[in-house]
Amino acid sequence: MVMAVAPPAPLVDQFGRTIRSLRVSVTDRCNFRCLYCMPEEGLPWLPNTRLMTFDEIERLVRLFVSLGIREVRLTGGEPTLRAGLPELIRRLAAIPGLEDLSLTTNGFLLKKLAGPLAEAGLRRVNVSLDSLDRARFAQLTRRDALDRVLEGLREVEKYPTLWPIKVNAVTMPEMSEEDILAFCELARSRAYVVRFLEYMPLDAAGNWDLSQVLPGATVLAIIRRYYALVPVPSRPGSTARCWRFADGRGEIGFINPVTEPFCAECNRLRLTADGQLRTCLFSTGDWDLLTPLRAGASDGELTAIIRAAVAHKEKKHRINEGAAFVRPNRSMSQIGG
Ligand code: SAM
Ligand code: SF4
Repeated sequence: MVMAVAPPAPLVDQFGRTIRSLRVSVTDRCNFRCLYCMPEEGLPWLPNTRLMTFDEIERLVRLFVSLGIREVRLTGGEPTLRAGLPELIRRLAAIPGLEDLSLTTNGFLLKKLAGPLAEAGLRRVNVSLDSLDRARFAQLTRRDALDRVLEGLREVEKYPTLWPIKVNAVTMPEMSEEDILAFCELARSRAYVVRFLEYMPLDAAGNWDLSQVLPGATVLAIIRRYYALVPVPSRPGSTARCWRFADGRGEIGFINPVTEPFCAECNRLRLTADGQLRTCLFSTGDWDLLTPLRAGASDGELTAIIRAAVAHKEKKHRINEGAAFVRPNRSMSQIGG
C-alpha cells in the first residue's frame, strides 16, 4: 500500500502571518547610484564566490515553494547585471507551485533583456523610476539615463505576459507637483500602474530622517486636486493601496511603509545575494542559509533554519518609535529591496 505523504506545514509566524512571498537578491552591485540608496563611490561589493550560484538559488527557491512560498521576486542591487539572468528565470519558472515570478529593476538594461526574460518565463516587471524630468532623474540616480529607462519600458510593453507594468517612484519632499502630475500622465497614457513609495531609513549613507519623508497621503491629496479617483480593492498581502482614475484611464498606488505601516499583513521573507535570510527589511541580523547549504545540509536541516527564522519574524518595524528604532546593518541594495 502506498502511504500518502502529508505536505510540509506552511510557514506561519507567531503573529499568525502566513509567509507567501520571497524576495531574492541576485547581486548587490548596481549601475546607478540613487541618492536614497547608494553612495556615489558604490559599496564594498560581495566577491563572486560569496554570491549564491544559480544551482543554490534554485535549490533554495524549490525548498521555499515546498513550504508555501507562492511569489518570488528577483531583485538586487541591480538584478539585470547578473550574467545569465534569463537562464535563472527559466529554471525558477519551471518550479511547480510557484505562481508568480517577477523582477524589480532600474530598467537601464531592459531594452536588451525584456525579450529574453519574457521568453524565459518572467511574469511581471517593476521598474523603479523616480522622475520623468531628465535633470531631476540624473540628480537622483547620478546617471543621465532617463531616455534609456523609458526605452526599456517601451520594450517591456511588447510582451503581453509582462503586463501589468508597474513603475515605482520613491517620493521625497523635493518631488514637485509637476513630477507627480507627470507620473499620473504616464499612468494614464501608457496604462502602467505607477506607485509612489515612501523613502525609508535604508540609505547606505545614513542620511534619512523623518523630515525627508513625503507622506503618500500628501501626494494623494495633490493628485485629487486634479483627478477624480476610485479606490481599487487590495489583494491580500499587498503593500500598495491603489486607485483608478475615475474616467477609467490608468491606475496609481501608494506604498506608505513609514506613515501607514502594513507590518500586520506582511507575508514576506528576503534572501540576500549571499544567501542570508532576513525576516524584515529592518532586521538587525541574518539567518545564514548559504554556509550550511555549501556544507552539505539536507533539505530538512535547511527547513529547520527557515522555520526558526520565521518563528522570530519581527512583529513590526520601529521607524516611528524614536530611539527604539535601530537601523539595520545592511542598506537597501545589500538586502534586496
Ligand atoms: N536596482 C533595482 C531597482 O532600483 O529597482 C532593484 C533593487 S532596489 C534596492 C529596489 C527598490 O528599492 C527600488 O524601487 C528602489 O527605489 C527602492 N529603494 C532603495 N532605497 C530605498 C529607500 N531608502 N527607501 C525606499 N525605497 C528604496
Ligand atoms: Fe541601484 Fe536600485 Fe539602489 Fe538605485 S535603488 S542605487 S538602481 S539598487
